[in-house]
Amino acid sequence: MASLRLQDIYKVYQSGVVAVTDFTLDIEDKEFIVFVGPSGCGKSTTLRMIAGLEEISDGDLYIDGKRMNDVQPKDRDIAMVFQNYALYPHMTVYDNMAFGLKLRKKPKAEIDEKVKEAARILGLETYLQRKPKALSGGQRQRVALGRAIVREPKVFLLDEPLSNLDAKLRAQMRTEITKLHHRLATTFIYVTHDQVEAMTMGTRIVVMKDGFIQQVDAPQKLYDYPANLFVAGFIGTPQMNFFDATLTKDAEGKVYVEFEGNKVALPKAKSDKIINGEEYFNTGKPVVFGVRPEDLHDEASFINTSRETVINVKVDVVEKLGAETLLYCVFAKDGVDVTEDGKVKSLVDSATQMIAKVDSRSKTERDQVIELAIDIMHSHLFDKDTELTILDGEGTKAYVPVVELARQEEAKKKAAEGGDEKAVKGNFFSKLLKKKDATVSTEETADDNQTADEE
Ligand code: ADP
Repeated sequence: MASLRLQDIYKVYQSGVVAVTDFTLDIEDKEFIVFVGPSGCGKSTTLRMIAGLEEISDGDLYIDGKRMNDVQPKDRDIAMVFQNYALYPHMTVYDNMAFGLKLRKKPKAEIDEKVKEAARILGLETYLQRKPKALSGGQRQRVALGRAIVREPKVFLLDEPLSNLDAKLRAQMRTEITKLHHRLATTFIYVTHDQVEAMTMGTRIVVMKDGFIQQVDAPQKLYDYPANLFVAGFIGTPQMNFFDATLTKDAEGKVYVEFEGNKVALPKAKSDKIINGEEYFNTGKPVVFGVRPEDLHDEASFINTSRETVINVKVDVVEKLGAETLLYCVFAKDGVDVTEDGKVKSLVDSATQMIAKVDSRSKTERDQVIELAIDIMHSHLFDKDTELTILDGEGTKAYVPVVELARQEEAKKKAAEGGDEKAVKGNFFSKLLKKKDATVSTEETADDNQTADEE
């Protein structure tokens, strides 16, 4: 049981790489927090700073109100499970799980009780005398989890624990870890680049990019109210369709989205949600109109009741996935496969402009020109310059990286005064580097990895 507070945390590696910037987050007791984002966005670095395997360049880390920056990994009361579960091949499952407790010189009876309890929770009771090589990948990963469970840590840290498993096992282990979280009622922090894992497991998700937090929200909230273009594109498969657009308003006050020669109407309930609408209405200020593939419909019943949001498209490719069908479409006006001088268009020229995810019973076929209706209440609008949503997200906070903005401002000011923009940015981080003498080198962290896992 533990709550965590990460306050203005930075990580600057000795090489000068700024891996994490201004990371601030409160994690409540028993939460299942997922850090998600593309490779290199700073997820593992953040997790490793919580574990104590990586020094914090600036900022404060608290566990249950106690500052942890200078506390040794083994004294932080956390357990970490890695992608590469690194079991001892010559030891049985029982001994692998008992090893950490033996190192800590726990009484034999207590070790036995804890290992058996962990084995029971994880369904490993019949495998206790086996060696790792006689186990499946999923079973091995369960042993790795068992090693963490026996220590009864306050916080579980999991770094891409499922990425070595095949798709089927991954799905199974996903639900097992979720159940484990319910059963142990402990704080879990889980790192993954897989948005499906994030969506299915997290009570709250932290979306990261380039070392910055982009948004922190519950999974459904992230899906319904992405705070910026990056989050909108990252959460959901296939990805949300984006169109360059402008907003117009007629004399009756009705608002329209205009894009690619189409004009669709926004019901009042939707247009009322636009923040600072007058900045955009009839001014030509560019916005990005976002529509998820599942919010494009080809069924007549939907189209007939949504005439104001219908667009015409030509279907390029039909993918039947069984449970649903994907239509890869181009706007009908571009749907001609020959160029003006009669040559076959290149694949690049006729690139897909949108994907619709429709019912698998859809009769739509390739090359058809069809109508698609947009489920407009679920559509999204972003400012093209700031990339932030311009829709009121019912409490969702757009995570503007305040420090980054302040630094950009400072850099711009300096540049205007004749200074060098890059140099200003360099100064900011070199101060951080000087503050802490040295960070741990790559080899050292690999060793620490092992130690923290085993201790
Ligand atoms: P993620 O877990 O999101 O894939 P990481 O936290 O591993 O990202 O890395 C964030 C950034 O820090 C990357 O640019 C990566 O190259 C860099 N980085 C990670 N570890 C080190 C290290 N030991 N030394 C220098 N740079 C590092």
